[in-house]
Amino acid sequence: MVIIGGGYTGTMAAARLASRGRSVTVLDRNELGWGASSRNGGMVLPGFKTGPGSLLKRYGDHGRQLYQATLDAIALVEETIRVNQIECQYAQTGQLHLAHKPALARHLEDEAHILSEQFGIATRVIPRAELSSEVGTSLYYGGLLVERSGGLHPAKYFAGLAQLARDRGAHLYDHAPATGIERRRPGGFTVSTPRGRISTGNVLLATNGYTDRILPSVRRRVIPIGSYIIATEPLTSELAHSAIPNRRMLIDSKNFLYYWRFSADNRMLFGGRASFAPTTTPMARDWLYAAMTRVHPQLKGVKIEHAWGGLVGFTLDRMPHIGRMDGVTYALGYCGTGVAMSTYFGQLAADWIAGDELPACWQRPFPSMPLYREKPWFLPAVGWYYRALDGL
Ligand SMILES: Cc1cc2nc3c(=O)[nH]c(=O)nc-3n(C[C@H](O)[C@H](O)[C@H](O)COP(=O)(O)OP(=O)(O)OC[C@H]3O[C@@H](n4cnc5c(N)ncnc54)[C@H](O)[C@@H]3O)c2cc1C
Repeated sequence: MVIIGGGYTGTMAAARLASRGRSVTVLDRNELGWGASSRNGGMVLPGFKTGPGSLLKRYGDHGRQLYQATLDAIALVEETIRVNQIECQYAQTGQLHLAHKPALARHLEDEAHILSEQFGIATRVIPRAELSSEVGTSLYYGGLLVERSGGLHPAKYFAGLAQLARDRGAHLYDHAPATGIERRRPGGFTVSTPRGRISTGNVLLATNGYTDRILPSVRRRVIPIGSYIIATEPLTSELAHSAIPNRRMLIDSKNFLYYWRFSADNRMLFGGRASFAPTTTPMARDWLYAAMTRVHPQLKGVKIEHAWGGLVGFTLDRMPHIGRMDGVTYALGYCGTGVAMSTYFGQLAADWIAGDELPACWQRPFPSMPLYREKPWFLPAVGWYYRALDGL
């Protein structure tokens, strides 16, 4: 079994397949965990880009199962951390979703109702007048608190998953790009790498936002989009408390959203998407600093000690996808919310490859876009469109 991509998806799949007695080789083009799995904001959240109400409307009972899968994904992350004693600073902090327009604040009640009635999740709508108990800013019109969510240290979590895969007998190789996949007759594949060729019965593509042209039919369904984060110097507890008193994971409702939280050592981690057009880390850093101090003017003057970016894998229906194309299994397209889902998809893909059935709710068409092959030429226009929506 060959897994291409050594992030959360690939290493979780490797650990699961190895525990089911399979011989597993994981290849990563860079260092293991080099992709989004060591660069993310560490927020462990339920849900997709599409809200629970729209999911139910669009997919009926499958929509309910899809949302439930995101809750199961959080439970899987927690269990994996607990059982394997992965030291990754996981804490169930709760998450606050902040409405940036009055009209969106009115929808929070509906969403809270669906979450508690259909999924039994503890939620609380916080009106604008009471928001200061949760966030030190006057920029937002209301918030929805979801207690189930949490936060972790992304690279430490990745290190734990990689160790788990190794302990169970999987072989993990860094600086080992897969450069070609050929189908063999009567069955199986040959995967080429610069170090040699591997014959295998199955291949899992777990490359998300870093998907290259190794499987063109998948590449043209995944749109890589940059996301960036800045980390301040460690803040005093008073300053930290003035910004996020209860240390929640915060996300706002814009298409060009901001997401922010504290690290265990009291650094504000503030992330967002600077633009859909290509940008640079220094430009994103300046833009994020301006955004952070617009949200929290009390942080003006704090030092930014780190800035970085990574690629998230978007899909046209803004949902993750697991399936098979040209015989190769793929599990990707987390649209920026993949810490929990990629762990879950890694396990789901492994079980499917080992012979279990793929649940029907995941057997959905993977949409493609005419004329899109590799270069997302349409992104600047889409960016303008979303920015206009955010501003309306
Ligand atoms: C800045 C940022 C912040 C984020 N914040 C959050 C968050 O707070 N919460 C959340 O839920 N999600 C977040 N995400 C998304 C989340 O990190 C990803 O969904 C998740 O890590 C995807 O894991 P993965 O294993 O599928 O892919 P990745 O971790 O991206 O790994 C893909 C790997 O494939 C390798 N690869 C590609 N092609 C080949 C090849 N041909 N041969 C060999 N290897 C190859 C790459 O080198 C890479 O290491 C964030 C993402 C970014 C970039």
